[in-house]
Amino acid sequence: MYLHLPFCRDRCTYCSFVTTRDESLQPATVTRLVAQVHSWGDALDHPKLDTLYLGGGTPSLLSLNELTALSNSVHEAFDLSPLTEATLEANPGTVDLAWLQGARALGWDRISLGVQTLDDELLGRLGRIHDGAVALEALGLARRAGFERRSGDLMVGIPGQDLSRVLADARRMLATGLEHISIYLLDLDKNCPLKADVDAGRLTLPSEDDVATVFEALQVELPRLGLPPYEISNYARPGSESRHNSRYWERRPYLGIGPSAASHLGDFRWTEEGNIPAWADGRAGVELQELDAAEALSEIPLLGLRLHRGVDWGALRALARSNNLLPLVDSWEVQLAPFERGGLILREGPIMRLSERGMLLSNGLLSTFV
Ligand code: SF4
Repeated sequence: MYLHLPFCRDRCTYCSFVTTRDESLQPATVTRLVAQVHSWGDALDHPKLDTLYLGGGTPSLLSLNELTALSNSVHEAFDLSPLTEATLEANPGTVDLAWLQGARALGWDRISLGVQTLDDELLGRLGRIHDGAVALEALGLARRAGFERRSGDLMVGIPGQDLSRVLADARRMLATGLEHISIYLLDLDKNCPLKADVDAGRLTLPSEDDVATVFEALQVELPRLGLPPYEISNYARPGSESRHNSRYWERRPYLGIGPSAASHLGDFRWTEEGNIPAWADGRAGVELQELDAAEALSEIPLLGLRLHRGVDWGALRALARSNNLLPLVDSWEVQLAPFERGGLILREGPIMRLSERGMLLSNGLLSTFV
């Protein structure tokens, strides 16, 4: 289950998530989240949850009382006996030791910190509310509070950022003993302030070649520092992979609650409306999509090839055969042949997976399944 807390102390200059600085909406939103957790738990007859993720926004803006209410609602409405992971997202500029210890005591055992970079000038450009020292301190505080599974976000493609800076940041983050790193490519939404600066020529984005060089260097450096990749953009010490996010790539069911949260159960996907006041008042709508058999089949390689371990292509063909969709798989194989000849796709028995170079060039390759 994913819970979305759509509040931030300040708005980052590149952000396109559903989030607001209007904290007057927070109490009603938390109350509604609690009510929705109960309502879904009842509707689904208190199902088992094996992973839980509280994202945003900035969940670390919740008071410990609010976090307790939300945590209790999940415990009351769902069966957490198989729970293997409960992740909190946090902004390094909003956490202290007491809050982290309180969250840990409530059962949250993994934390994902939005570090992005340790360069104060770049952090200012991104509109982040913390500097590099605070981000490093937050990683240490999380460890002291008992979080043994910590993840840090590292952003690539920031105007003014170069390869040596990214590598230095990765090394300093890992020197804290960090267990997991997620790499994000700066993606500018058309309405964000940073896009306006780039369009006006005040800032220049690194070239595609420069960004590719950074990704390539991280593919070498992060495993050397003890974090092999397990997904296109995610690296972890063995055993510290994100179990929750792996569910998305494995196409297993998930329930999302909160403004803009997405869910996938059976053949259905739905996304809750992102209008925060309407969501808090219970007036928000839902966009529902029913997947047909071809769409459902396409998602298996589209998501599964992101994973380092790849996709069981033999099983995929068998599934396609039972749904009369073998011609679709045959057409994919024709389109993928050049990628395979170019060494971007590897076959090992029934397993198809991307090579390291395939991971770098995955966008073009994965568009085969869209
Ligand atoms: S902290 Fe995260 S969600 Fe909030 S504005 Fe910044 S990028 Fe967006």
